[in-house]
Order: sequence, then C-alpha cells, then structure tokens
Amino acid sequence: MARFKRILLKLSGESLMGNQGYGIDADRLNDYACQIKEVHDMGVQISVVIGGGNIFRGLSGSQKGFDRVKGDQMGMCATVINSLALSSALDVIGVKNKVMTAIRMEPIGEYYNKWKAIEAMEEGRVCIFSAGTGSPYFTTDTGSSLRGIEIEADVMLKGTRVDGVYSADPEKDPSATKFSEITYKEVLERGLKVMDLTAICMCQDNNLPIYVFNMDVVGNLGKVIAGEEIGTLVHN
Ligand code: UDP
Repeated sequence: MARFKRILLKLSGESLMGNQGYGIDADRLNDYACQIKEVHDMGVQISVVIGGGNIFRGLSGSQKGFDRVKGDQMGMCATVINSLALSSALDVIGVKNKVMTAIRMEPIGEYYNKWKAIEAMEEGRVCIFSAGTGSPYFTTDTGSSLRGIEIEADVMLKGTRVDGVYSADPEKDPSATKFSEITYKEVLERGLKVMDLTAICMCQDNNLPIYVFNMDVVGNLGKVIAGEEIGTLVHN
C-alpha cells in the first residue's frame, strides 16, 4: 500500500553523474528510472524535478566571469537536458511520461501548466518539470517547492546521497546524529542544510512536508512509499 497519493520527487543533477565527475551516468539514470517505475506500479501519481548541477550552475559560472542571468539560463537548460535523459530512460522501460518546461521550448517539452500536469498524472503519466522556476536567481530546490505546492503533492521526496537530515554534515563530522523527524523551524534555527532557504520557507508557509532519503540505494524510493522510516521527515 502506498502512503502517498501524489508525490514530487526532487533529484539533484549532481547525483546523476554517479562516479563520473561530470555529465550523466547511464547506470545511475537507469536505477532512478527503475525506482520510479516501481512506485508508479504501486499507483502513485508522480512528478519529478531534476537539478542541473552535473552540467552547469549559474552561481559557479558567475564566479568564473559568466553573466549571472545567462549562467542561470544555462543552468536551467542543463535541467532540461537531464529531464530529457530521464524521460528517455522511462520510455525504454515502458513508463509513460511527459516533460514540461518552465520556459517555452516546444517541441522539446510542453509549456508548464498546473492543470495539464495534474491531468497527465491522473492518466498515469510521470510528469517531469524542467527548467526550474523559469527565472534566474532561483534553484531547482525552489522550483520543486513551487511545483510541489502548485500540483498539491502530499509530500516532496528529496532523494539525496545521504539517508536523512543530520545534526551536522555526516561526511565531515562522524559524531553527527540523524533526525527521524524535525520541524522547518528547527531546520532554520540550527542552519541545517536540507534545501536552500527560499525553498524551505515556501514549504513551511504552504505546509508541504519534505522527506529526505538516500535515493542512490536502489529500492529506497519504494520503501519510502511503502511507509518504511528510512529517512527524515521535515514538517511544521
Ligand atoms: N536555475 C535557475 N532558476 C531555477 C532553477 C535553476 O536559474 O528556477 C539554474 C541555476 O543556475 C542553478 C542551475 O539552474 O545553479 C542548476 O540547478 P541546481 O543548482 O538547483 O541543480 P542541482 O544542484 O539540484 O543539481
């Protein structure tokens, strides 16, 4: 039994590159697609937002001399590339899906529209929302919060390479402890790096819970949907 009816899954672009250091790792992409298929088969309505950090980030670009707005537009295009890659991987395993773009670029994707997205999910298509919010100075974390709230998702599932929210960075501090649940207020007060501030505040203001879990372990997405407590729930 699925514990959520409609989800927004956020995947970072960086995790798509696997151990390659850049670009898209085909095995990692396929693992993600198969995990999505597993929960799709459970009858869950699924939407996905993928970052673009494996290809380009506007902020890092501006530190190297790129115009920030053009750099962010390059970053948004990077999310479209990743979204098309996921769409193609889902096609291969027979999962119907639709890429929507926050910036008009037919025929690459359909221009985002809340009601068309909901209709597609209700018909059993996975919706992949690309190009973030469509505006510079935002991130795909904020794009995920925005889309998750708009499409009335029950939860935002943030798939990362760590298994939840810790009191400190577990990759740097071995004494860090994991929370099974935590409020947005505490995340903000402790300055914990769950998502960027804009994204956290939007979820807090609009009551969209976030579940942080390790998506790089195959089968974990299914476990979260089945109700296993393998990550951290962030809520009001
Ligand atoms: N971006 C943007 N507006 C958005 C979403 C993304 O300008 O609404 C740009 C920004 O430059 C960002 C890049 O796209 O650095 C890639 O997104 P993000 O850094 O969120 O990807 P991730 O870290 O999840 O791989």
